[in-house]
Amino acid sequence: MTASTSSSLLGVYGVIVMDTNLNPSVILVGLCRKEIRAKSREINQVRASSLEIATMEPKREVVVIVGAGIAGLTTSLGLHRLGIRSLVLESSDGLRVTGFALSTWTNAWKALDAVGVGDILRRQHVRLYWNVTTSLITGNQTSITSFTAKGKHGGHEVRCVRRKLMLEALANELPSGTIRYSSKVVAIEESGFSKLVHLADGTTIQTKVLIGCDGVNSVVAKWLGFKKAAFTGRSAIRGFTELISSHGFEPWFMHFFGDGFRSGAIPCDEKTGYWFLTWTPTSKEEELEEDPTKMKQWVLQKLEKMPRNVRAVIEKTELDSIFSWPLKYRSPWELIRGNISKGNVCVAGDALHPMPPDLGQGGCCALEDGVVLARCLAEAFTKKVGDNEEEDEEKEQYRRIEAALKKYANERRWRCIDLITTSYIVGVIQEGGSKLINSLRDEILAPFLAGLLLIKSDFDCGKLHSS
Ligand SMILES: Cc1cc2nc3c(=O)[nH]c(=O)nc-3n(C[C@H](O)[C@H](O)[C@H](O)COP(=O)(O)OP(=O)(O)OC[C@H]3O[C@@H](n4cnc5c(N)ncnc54)[C@H](O)[C@@H]3O)c2cc1C
Repeated sequence: MTASTSSSLLGVYGVIVMDTNLNPSVILVGLCRKEIRAKSREINQVRASSLEIATMEPKREVVVIVGAGIAGLTTSLGLHRLGIRSLVLESSDGLRVTGFALSTWTNAWKALDAVGVGDILRRQHVRLYWNVTTSLITGNQTSITSFTAKGKHGGHEVRCVRRKLMLEALANELPSGTIRYSSKVVAIEESGFSKLVHLADGTTIQTKVLIGCDGVNSVVAKWLGFKKAAFTGRSAIRGFTELISSHGFEPWFMHFFGDGFRSGAIPCDEKTGYWFLTWTPTSKEEELEEDPTKMKQWVLQKLEKMPRNVRAVIEKTELDSIFSWPLKYRSPWELIRGNISKGNVCVAGDALHPMPPDLGQGGCCALEDGVVLARCLAEAFTKKVGDNEEEDEEKEQYRRIEAALKKYANERRWRCIDLITTSYIVGVIQEGGSKLINSLRDEILAPFLAGLLLIKSDFDCGKLHSS
């Protein structure tokens, strides 16, 4: 309760002023005795409710996950499949869909299958069979890689999945009430063997486990001691086109490389296509990132030599379906030295490993995190705690949770370091920008760089059950 809401309750008659301890002091002006009595009753109600806020017990939860993005929902669903309830706190008032679509590689399908939503998404998206790269400098095709090749973990599978459908597929499988929207976490506090999570709306939640899946600007990562994600100096423009009739795209991942940019176009289904362009903006070009009309014109001008049917799809993109993003990453050193987990707190997804999108692995890696984290954490809850005193029991459970999160951190650390490092290097080479790098990329490295996309996706995070 604030001074302003209280004064509106009292209309023009008086003002309640709250001090920092939520003790209302009251000033009444210009009232007759009857009015004062009525107002006093209202004031007492206000005082009672403000004292209630001040003394309210925090809500208790076992597992709290911050963020209902890919990482948060996968972790929550994984835990749910293993019989463990969690509460997901999401700052937006609904599922927040940023970026339209994402290339979803073999490793991601294994994770989606592990939590039981792979087939829902397979039915909604076309399977891609080839990665075809073309130099827009020479006009030549520089590599063609089959997505049907077999890897160490079986056949490859690649699709471009609409983010909205991925988030919905995960969220729809959760018991109702699992996601609490409009719940922005603003502070974290130690409280014995628990953590107190403070929300912007004044609510406090006490939890035995706190998992930060709150993206690139994570408050949980900050609490764990991570620095802000670093800017690569590069940006991406992404667009999404929904047509009434077929776009006529082949089931290919089409990559185009120019002088200082990398671009791509991929079908999601028969009528929807996703496209992107990454580059290093000059200070003048930074301005165009604010204006979708200028961005579209600029992209079409850069992609002049692109096949006509792909350009036509970009031309048909509505302006509210074109956005620009600065590309960020976490230095691998931070993952080597930093705390992926500390006590009963850990991070997953972009909160842990923001990376450039050049391998298309950030979201796929977040799916892997979710499965591994759910599996490790479930072990801490399935093992029975001994018949000890309450405090010993709490301590024992805290110890198990801590060990489970450490296990998760150890399992993920080097996988994340590998993906961040490789995508950073691949991004720099693929974008080109000097004669030497352009010709190395187009004439020598093209098949190798395309092969890396498959090599890095040839990974199995395993099933939810460890045996
Ligand atoms: C240009 C670009 C292209 C990409 N392409 C691909 C691709 O092709 N394939 C791929 O796999 N990945 C891709 N990625 C990466 C992918 O988008 C991310 O890795 C993925 O979205 C991370 O998911 P997440 O759940 O960790 O974080 P997010 O998707 O960022 O979700 C975090 C959630 O937490 C919520 N939140 C944040 N702070 C708080 C708070 N304080 N309290 C409560 N809630 C909070 C947010 O509202 C959000 O819903 C791309 C990224 C970019 C920038």
